[in-house]
Amino acid sequence: MSKIVVQICCSVDSHYFLECLRQDFPNDEIIGFFYNPNIHPYTEYMLRLKDVEFSCKKLGITLLDGLYDINKWYEITKGYENEPEKGNRCTICFDDRLDVTVLKAKELGADKFTTTLLMSPLKSQEKLKIIGDNLATKNALEFIYKDYRSGSGGVNQSLAVKNNRLYRQNYCGCMYALNAQREAQNRLCDELITPISQQVLPNSIEYRLALFEQRDKLVDEGKEFFIKKVDFINYRLLNGLLKINKNIVPSYIVAYSYLKSQKTNAKVEFIKEGMAYLSKNGIILLDINRFNDLTNSSYKSIKELLSNPLSFDDEVKLRKSILKDFSLSPILVVDSIKQDDFVELVLNSTYFSDTKEEIEIIS
Ligand code: SF4
Repeated sequence: MSKIVVQICCSVDSHYFLECLRQDFPNDEIIGFFYNPNIHPYTEYMLRLKDVEFSCKKLGITLLDGLYDINKWYEITKGYENEPEKGNRCTICFDDRLDVTVLKAKELGADKFTTTLLMSPLKSQEKLKIIGDNLATKNALEFIYKDYRSGSGGVNQSLAVKNNRLYRQNYCGCMYALNAQREAQNRLCDELITPISQQVLPNSIEYRLALFEQRDKLVDEGKEFFIKKVDFINYRLLNGLLKINKNIVPSYIVAYSYLKSQKTNAKVEFIKEGMAYLSKNGIILLDINRFNDLTNSSYKSIKELLSNPLSFDDEVKLRKSILKDFSLSPILVVDSIKQDDFVELVLNSTYFSDTKEEIEIIS
């Protein structure tokens, strides 16, 4: 039996492509090969891999994954960091992915290979054909060049993504293209922000990983559900520093704390039961005991809270319990606070309009 090894970049490009390939090559064994060290950060790589596993499982196609050799990828693209998409860095990136696919095809005794990159409207099919044909000649293999995206291909591809509830990513893969894309969109590159505490931030890659794990579970359990889109105000803390009476003190900055001027100083005007109201910018400081009472937790210190924080949603609940309406006033947790303390705060954070996906279970 003939074997085709298919380099798979993501399920958006692979699901429909594999369906078409199976129709055109009914007598060949098709093996998917997920080799993409160009996908950054690693959590995004895992998310796309898991989604391709989900898609291949549905299609009954064997999937293998290659090495995530990111150091090699950085090395081969060195000097091409500022190339635009479709430029020379992409050629190197295609070369690498197809080179390794050919090695895998030979290892598996396959006689043909191809790539789902042919399905992407952002990739040059001509370039991929030249690379594929050259490799085929050198290695006595056949490169399958198929244009499944022309005609109604793009529409069918989108339908396959929607009907199978696949993960639709919004950037190609590497951090260089991602940075350039976010800069052009005047948007924060929040895909590259992960808190040291590992708290899962709204609509972060970690959030999406959990969402698609839930999808997989619901499918396995045979549950009915749909994935809805929700517009909301997202938030990221970029950095912050708190000084009390000129000394830097450990502090925990609660979600949606925002200071337009990014820097201020104020005095503790009033304290009641471990909650201090400052003289400026609506700043509130909570001591750790009051924080524990309000959140039903038992942290012993701010350091402990910093390394193992509440969930983001619980922080939002805490904010609402203190300030009722939707608010942006800075709320910080500290080990202790006294009347008339002099406070200096640096707070660099941002909020922005965003769209996230959520699962709605029907039955
Ligand atoms: S933009 Fe995409 S194809 Fe080009 S180098 Fe980055 S990951 Fe590779």
